[in-house]
Amino acid sequence: MKKIVVAIDGYSSSGKSTMARELARRVGYVYVDSGAMYRAVTLYALEHGMIENGKVDRERLAAALPGISITFEPAGADGVQHTLLNGRDVEREIRDMQVSENVSRVAEIPEVRERLVRIQQEYGVRKGIVMDGRDIGTTVFPDAEMKVFVDASPEERARRRLLELEQKGEKVNYEEVLDNIRTRDRIDTTRAVSPLRKADDAHVLDNDHMTHREQSEWLLNLFHTIVNEK
Ligand code: C5P
Repeated sequence: MKKIVVAIDGYSSSGKSTMARELARRVGYVYVDSGAMYRAVTLYALEHGMIENGKVDRERLAAALPGISITFEPAGADGVQHTLLNGRDVEREIRDMQVSENVSRVAEIPEVRERLVRIQQEYGVRKGIVMDGRDIGTTVFPDAEMKVFVDASPEERARRRLLELEQKGEKVNYEEVLDNIRTRDRIDTTRAVSPLRKADDAHVLDNDHMTHREQSEWLLNLFHTIVNEK
């Protein structure tokens, strides 16, 4: 069967990663979480004192980029793909609030985007890939055969994110999470380089009132329709 590229974009905590990962598993494709790459660069910047009071030292970070390697380890026993920063497993750390609070500022730096987009495009050369993010259907793979834009209200996304963080034992409250989501939406949609927006040819999935299972089925049906038309 001919392999395609699947691009899934959407707002923070819209559930796109879960859905993208599951689709990849069901159809035997490689899954790449592009947000994890921006998060890993953010963790690096935090650890090297390049972010102070939300302000990123763009010059230092741009100069450090060639020395930052981000790779993925295939899903292990826990079923989760792990992100490695210079060979160190940082999957847990990149999901914490400190990284979430700073990642959008790092992601608006053109040098960071340039480098990560190039790495992401290399993953797509052989097709058979599902990638999720903000600019996958618009910038990374504008020719992707299947594009999906996931939408959900900030309140619903905050509820889901809070649940996730609580399950990991992080102490945060709803308002804090909602605030972070709104701030990230604002920065992600208004930045100068590759702002988050729906690609003209993307299929919209509004999942406010859909279960995981319904979303998964919707995505798989769309995939089969597109692949069969090829
Ligand atoms: O998807 P996730 O919420 O983990 O992404 C974290 C942040 O990384 C986003 O809020 C956004 O600022 C940035 N990002 C991006 N482009 C992508 C993926 C993520 O700018 N393709």
